[in-house]
Amino acid sequence: MRIARFTTGDDPLYGVVTGDLDEHGELSDDATIITLAGDPMYAGVKPLDEQHRVADVRLLAPVIPRSKVVAIGRNYAAHAAEMDNEVPPEPLMFLKPNTSVIGPGDPIFYPRQSQRVDFEGELAVVIGRICRDVPAEQATDVIFGYTIANDVTARDLQKSDGQWSRAKGFDSFCPLGPWIETDLDPHDFVEGRSVRTFLNGDLKQDGSTKDLIFDIPTLVAHITAAMTLLPGDVILTGTPEGVGPMQVDDEVEVSIAGLGTLTNRVTSR
Ligand code: MG
Repeated sequence: MRIARFTTGDDPLYGVVTGDLDEHGELSDDATIITLAGDPMYAGVKPLDEQHRVADVRLLAPVIPRSKVVAIGRNYAAHAAEMDNEVPPEPLMFLKPNTSVIGPGDPIFYPRQSQRVDFEGELAVVIGRICRDVPAEQATDVIFGYTIANDVTARDLQKSDGQWSRAKGFDSFCPLGPWIETDLDPHDFVEGRSVRTFLNGDLKQDGSTKDLIFDIPTLVAHITAAMTLLPGDVILTGTPEGVGPMQVDDEVEVSIAGLGTLTNRVTSR
């Protein structure tokens, strides 16, 4: 099931998106969204007798994390190598503020403090329950579903600051969406799903989740051994090789097989 957050001009609503994805992860023209009563993460999935064509609504970030986005660095060996970094002995965690989250189609603002802003296409995990000290074997119990992220990074500031809060924390630096897919489990990603990033239509990243160094259950266990996760918190699982810079007016798309495509455009402040 694909759970989206959307608006028709009034307050945000939740809905279930129906329709097929084409090979580029775009929805068919006849796709519809069935409105739900309340927030399905808390209220369960309760469809109302109301639906819209997806083309007639504006999709929003499928979740605004209540507390945090926990991101993982260097979780694909080929990406660690392209950045001249070693593979870390355990998951390398950092946080992105919830204020960095934007939705599909929203602008990524190019900060005036940076001369080098990169895309990082990533699989994202959405947490569905308050949890702490989750054993890897029970990770699926706390996962609500999966979505797509772009871990936008001011690469020059990441280096000059010596830590990553600003470089990865600017407003608009965490596009999420277009919806949350709830019918997958961690095993699907071990088998491998392609993670592709396109810049102005050109393929830049062409990875597979089978190459994740630390798999999703390991990440959930590692993170929750340190901090409590809340419903709506998001884990970014790391980016494959091929990261590169974006310029103002560029269109960036992150596509994950079976999940969909997240599209945003870079805009000057
Ligand atoms: Mg990243």
